[in-house]
Amino acid sequence: MQEAIQPKYYQAKVICNCGNEFVTGSTKKEIHVEICSKCHPFYTGQQKSTSARGRIEKFNRKYGITG
Ligand SMILES: [Zn+2]
Repeated sequence: MQEAIQPKYYQAKVICNCGNEFVTGSTKKEIHVEICSKCHPFYTGQQKSTSARGRIEKFNRKYGITG
């Protein structure tokens, strides 16, 4: 019987500085972030410049959140 070798994949608990918590798939068990969908202007629709977009894409890539 052969098992595929793959990294452990957790339902990671993401804890934001604003106090919001949510769960996402990650190779880490717990992730601490400074911004999240609840408090980041990009998600709340309050951003006034496109520079916020690049920042959130970098953020998503860092934590393996795509799409
Ligand atoms: Zn937050």
